[in-house]
Amino acid sequence: SKAPSLTLNNGVEMPQLGFGVWQVPDDEATAAVSTALEAGYRSIDTAAIYGNEEGTGRALASSGIPRADLFVTTKLWNDKQGYDSTLRAFDESLGKLGLDYVDLYLIHWPLPAKGTFVDTYKAMEKILADGRAKSIGVSNFLPEHLETLIAETSVVPVINQIELHPQLQQADSRTCHAQHSIATEAWSPLGQGKGLLEVPTVVAVARKHGKTPAQAVLRWHLQLGNVVIPKSVTPSRIAENYDVFDFELDADDMAAFAALDEGKRLGPDPAVFGG
Ligand code: NAD
Repeated sequence: SKAPSLTLNNGVEMPQLGFGVWQVPDDEATAAVSTALEAGYRSIDTAAIYGNEEGTGRALASSGIPRADLFVTTKLWNDKQGYDSTLRAFDESLGKLGLDYVDLYLIHWPLPAKGTFVDTYKAMEKILADGRAKSIGVSNFLPEHLETLIAETSVVPVINQIELHPQLQQADSRTCHAQHSIATEAWSPLGQGKGLLEVPTVVAVARKHGKTPAQAVLRWHLQLGNVVIPKSVTPSRIAENYDVFDFELDADDMAAFAALDEGKRLGPDPAVFGG
């Protein structure tokens, strides 16, 4: 079966479950993305800094899947923030992917101390107007960064991709996103596989449904309305992570997951990352 879609604030449909390729070397990305496409994934999340846009693009090209059925996201890296450098970096990403448009282009980190995300986003508005990105958004923006961006630019981001998993549930960001009709996309949705998948509550809920801990966690995200982009290079896990559309967590399960929030960040704090 196929991942459900979310309708973004600009009317574009985005698959709610996609495939992330952080830390997948370029020469392994083609095989991993091909495996994901064969398993049914249609949304792929890469970034300039991952160094695998070319390998990802090769898998897209050789898949035979019509371009309109794919949803490709890439991200602008920190050292390219600024109006002109964003336009140039976008050209480079598009070239590496071998595409003539991306579905979603994101600012990777806000870098609040640099003060360049507004100019960066204005370049992305131009890319959007030119039809070379179908949607634009941000990643790792705290509510204060979103408020500044929305006040100073014209296009409300469709999505904010943030670290989010049962041990970091991000209530403040989710509330802010809901107020602005911004979708919430969870990075490291499985908590990078470290610890979270052994938490007794997660194991128990999974067992109750005859599913794996990873599947139970992904189901929790989907039922909250998050977009999720789990990563794996192991074919059996790639398939397992997509096999989550045939069961549902009940209210007790959701309440048990809600109790796991402990504000546990695995990645950098966006308020200070990048200086
Ligand atoms: P994840 O939470 O998806 O965990 C991936 C790891 O979990 C794998 O490497 C593997 O060790 C384990 N795993 C995966 N499937 C499993 C399964 N079925 N059973 C057991 N273990 C399993 O972590 P991630 O890669 O950090 O995040 C996913 C994606 O999010 C990335 O690939 C990337 O696309 C995106 N991301 C974005 C940012 C950002 O700053 N915007 C930062 C990190 C990640």
